[in-house]
Amino acid sequence: MKTLHHKEKEQFKKLFGQEGIDRFEDRLRVLEVLLQIEGHPTVSEVHQRLADEGAALDADFVRETLKLMCQLGFARRSRFGNAEVHYEPLHLGQHHDHMICTKCRRIYEFQSDPLETLQIKIAEAHGFHLLQHRVEFYGICAECLKERIDRMPLDMARPGERLTIINFTGGAGARMRLMTMGLRVGDSVEVITNINEGQIALALENRRLVIGRGLAQKILVRPDRAKPGRPLSHNAED
Ligand SMILES: [Zn+2]
Ligand SMILES: [Zn+2]
Ligand SMILES: [Zn+2]
Repeated sequence: MKTLHHKEKEQFKKLFGQEGIDRFEDRLRVLEVLLQIEGHPTVSEVHQRLADEGAALDADFVRETLKLMCQLGFARRSRFGNAEVHYEPLHLGQHHDHMICTKCRRIYEFQSDPLETLQIKIAEAHGFHLLQHRVEFYGICAECLKERIDRMPLDMARPGERLTIINFTGGAGARMRLMTMGLRVGDSVEVITNINEGQIALALENRRLVIGRGLAQKILVRPDRAKPGRPLSHNAED
């Protein structure tokens, strides 16, 4: 890794010099921090790390430098289903894709030769010449799965998760409302959205149901791990 980082820095010096970009030393510090941080930091995380190391650069400068680094091929950016942009170093000749846990937001990297080959084949079958791709898996990581219990209230479920309804814990009024919606114990549902504090949208067969958070807390469900949900929607990002 040391020699790799050394090489990156040498090329950085050359290209940034060639482009006549100002404040070279400060920009080099941004690169150094990005190379040091393991993972996929946001602008504010890079900015914070620089401050921790005594380099008080303003956030706009850090953001602009990271953007320049993407333009010149030293970094790449992704949103990972988030509002914030994440950056990571781009090492030439190395490629990986990502799995994002929708519960803890951790980002895992993976590399799969069969998946890479398959993508080229799929593109070719459509007469499409593949230049770049971005594969992002969204789901629940092994760490978070360990913490999950077999029974949980519906409001704890994540988008994309398939569940079986095992009980209603509310009073007669709540049961009545759920029955009117057509929801029964034993039904298999898939979570479409579950936004903090908001309503939860479910797919029940081919119908959409929207349930308030209070009511969702009274529905006990069991996550269905054997049958992962087929994606209901796609979130394509930059
Ligand atoms: Zn890939
Ligand atoms: Zn997780
Ligand atoms: Zn990565």
